[in-house]
Amino acid sequence: MSDTQHTKLLIIGSGPAGYTAAVYAARSNLHPIQVLGLQPGGQLTITTEVENYPGFADPIQGPWLMEQMQAQAENVGTKTIYDLVTDVDFDSRPYKATLDSGDVITADTVIISTGAKARWLGLPSEEKFMNMGVSACATCDGFFFKNQRVAVIGGGNSAVEEALFLANLCEKVTLVHRRDELRAEKIMQQRLFDNPKIDILWDNEVEEILGVEVGQGDKPGVTGLRTKNNKTGEMTQTPLEGVFVAIGHDPATSLFKDNLDMDDEGYLITAPDSTATSIAGVYAAGDVKDKIYRQAVTAAGMGCMAALEADKYLATLEAENKKAA
Ligand code: NAP
Repeated sequence: MSDTQHTKLLIIGSGPAGYTAAVYAARSNLHPIQVLGLQPGGQLTITTEVENYPGFADPIQGPWLMEQMQAQAENVGTKTIYDLVTDVDFDSRPYKATLDSGDVITADTVIISTGAKARWLGLPSEEKFMNMGVSACATCDGFFFKNQRVAVIGGGNSAVEEALFLANLCEKVTLVHRRDELRAEKIMQQRLFDNPKIDILWDNEVEEILGVEVGQGDKPGVTGLRTKNNKTGEMTQTPLEGVFVAIGHDPATSLFKDNLDMDDEGYLITAPDSTATSIAGVYAAGDVKDKIYRQAVTAAGMGCMAALEADKYLATLEAENKKAA
């Protein structure tokens, strides 16, 4: 039988933004309920080493970090639920979320921290070498390729930013783009063209990421990239150690498309210097609203902001209700 419960604060999603919101909200006595979603822990659960989350002198494992965040949120009083929100109703108060199990949660405030997913090329070789030379985050993993050769796939702002970032660390960077012009902002393009460490393979698509599989040699990992010119058919083989796929992200916002303001790429829009969405009492934190930084630590910071804003909003609401009574 389905169950209905009420909470002052419902948190949807469980990456660094959601867990940080949960910690702050629980410690403010809001007794939050957090619905963890399909992939509890989010993007960091498919990462291996994390070296850029403050507080850990030695590298830590992404899945371990997320387990710790969940335990911390639960230890301070968050009720976590292994389920998926399948429908939301923000038209009247309290807000309502229906879960995949059929259970319903009503809530005075909601924090959305459903994250975003990196787009991948969809090649079997990409999957084979994931976290063994293939990554979708130069800021996270670039350091592991210091003084090595890498490729960045894509032609947007992310690809150009990643190529420039990697050029500061790596011996050589090859940008592989499927067309003969970039989508990135002109000023970024100029920086890319001016960088002597970066080569561009125009009109090229990745055919295969080459490498040594686990158990097949002493040093498993990526050894090269085979691309094909889509105008001439010419194949190019580039020896390298790392491949960064930067072909965009998909924010997990389909649930909110009839309710909340979002930009044309589907990212939730929040007020300046705030996590407030277009509906009062509904907040968004982390990659679901951020296409610029996309870091665990920035997501965590936004989760903190959202919890503080929800707390303040609830206090105002309570004061108004008292006055009206
Ligand atoms: P994007 O602008 O959608 O660019 C994706 C790039 O990947 C495009 O060049 C696209 O090629 C290419 N691509 C897509 N699918 C591909 C495939 N299957 N195979 C090969 N190439 C493929 O994504 P983004 O660069 O991540 O940027 C997303 C948004 O975030 C944009 O609005 C961007 O301005 C913003 N952003 C801002 C900043 C900043 O302000 N600092 C930094 C990063 C991102 P085509 O060009 O041929 O379509």
